Amino acid sequence: MKILVIEDEKRLCEALVQLLKRQNYSVDYDNDGESGLDDALSGIYDVIILDVMLPKLDGISVLKEIRREKMNVPVIILTAKGEISDKVRGLDTGADDYLPKPFNTEELLARVRALGRRRGELVETSALTLGSTSFDTRNLRLSCGDADVTLTRKEGELLEYLMINKNIITSKEQIIEKLWGFDSEAEANHVEVYVSFLRKKLKRVGADIRITAVRGMGYKLEIGTE
Ligand code: CA
Repeated sequence: MKILVIEDEKRLCEALVQLLKRQNYSVDYDNDGESGLDDALSGIYDVIILDVMLPKLDGISVLKEIRREKMNVPVIILTAKGEISDKVRGLDTGADDYLPKPFNTEELLARVRALGRRRGELVETSALTLGSTSFDTRNLRLSCGDADVTLTRKEGELLEYLMINKNIITSKEQIIEKLWGFDSEAEANHVEVYVSFLRKKLKRVGADIRITAVRGMGYKLEIGTE
């Protein structure tokens, strides 16, 4: 699970990142609202932890932008004691949870787990299903009817990402960020290669889902056969 922390108090931010990494989450962070929003809009995060008072762009504006882009990523808002928390609630900006500072780390982790579970049910329950095709993210088994095949880790990550975003176009850039990270040197043709591997395996199990290329935009997973 990938988490983005947007928090300008550097010590708190660092503590949060360390805490989450110890739970084996993959974590990125930003120290201001503008770069936080940029990263959030990449669409690669499963949970976002967002402070309200931020330089450049405040947390509420960041959240509004995220929701305006129709992104349904769960967002936990951190509010300092007495800090416009009532106003925040009243604004109905689409936060999934609020946590007043200072917070108990166990409580934060519990909320992250709860939101992560809700997100496509992919954290605790490991099987993703579309049509009659299902993919078990824990043992990387792709199956349809009686046929099954094991995916490589990267193929699995790609399929998981496409299944979570079913019927939505995801760009090659988003896929690169999700599979290889922001700083990687992976290029568009890496994505093409893995898409072609994955298509072969979908075909092998007779899957009733397909990866459609949308010219100039990216890929979309949908029900149908190649
Ligand atoms: Ca702050």
